[in-house]
Amino acid sequence: MPSLKFPAPKLQLLPIVGDADMYPVSRIFCVGRNYVAHAEEMGNKVDRDAPWYFTKSAQALCQSDETVPYPAGTTNYHHEMELVIALGKPAFRVERGRAMEAVFGYACGLDMTRRDRQQDGKDARRPWSLGKDVENGAVVGAITPKLDIGPLGPQRIALQVNAEPRQDASLSDMVWAVDEIISHLSQYYHLNAGDLIMTGTPAGVGPVVAGDVITGQIDGLAPVSHRISDPE
Ligand code: MN
Repeated sequence: MPSLKFPAPKLQLLPIVGDADMYPVSRIFCVGRNYVAHAEEMGNKVDRDAPWYFTKSAQALCQSDETVPYPAGTTNYHHEMELVIALGKPAFRVERGRAMEAVFGYACGLDMTRRDRQQDGKDARRPWSLGKDVENGAVVGAITPKLDIGPLGPQRIALQVNAEPRQDASLSDMVWAVDEIISHLSQYYHLNAGDLIMTGTPAGVGPVVAGDVITGQIDGLAPVSHRISDPE
């Protein structure tokens, strides 16, 4: 081990349901417009040719049940409730039929978004980094091993703000299924254990303010919760 000029970046970890081991996070990929009703509410059409992606840095990860300040640089911070795929094995150029072998498990996640900064990027045809790669803006709950949930299908995916329903849909509403996403993304990356894929949000996204408590559930998975405090 070489001596380091300054401390190494924080190791980003997630708990695993029923396992004392922690899951070390490597990369965070995010799928865009994977639910028709959400694409429509944003004024977009779904692209059915192929899934597409943006990324969040692993240092943007935030475990469930944390309280974090309303982020700098936005006045329109939005919740997006999503299914998160947690990979446990390598996948590179895998066929759809073998893609699920790479899955370790699933979690509930929040793709927190500076919607105003994302819109700036759209308007200027520039990247979405300020909108999407937000510190503490990749909120992920405990990972449930895939064997404990069984096949994905009509599981309900829902989100509340201060217990008020905001998002409510079914995983079967996803345009691109889990195996299609992994197979497609593996044409571009050597996917590996520790990589997370946030799979897009259903309709009902909206703003949160300081003091709000966001809660999200997917049938069969550990829930996620996130509290916003006053800005720094
Ligand atoms: Mn999203």
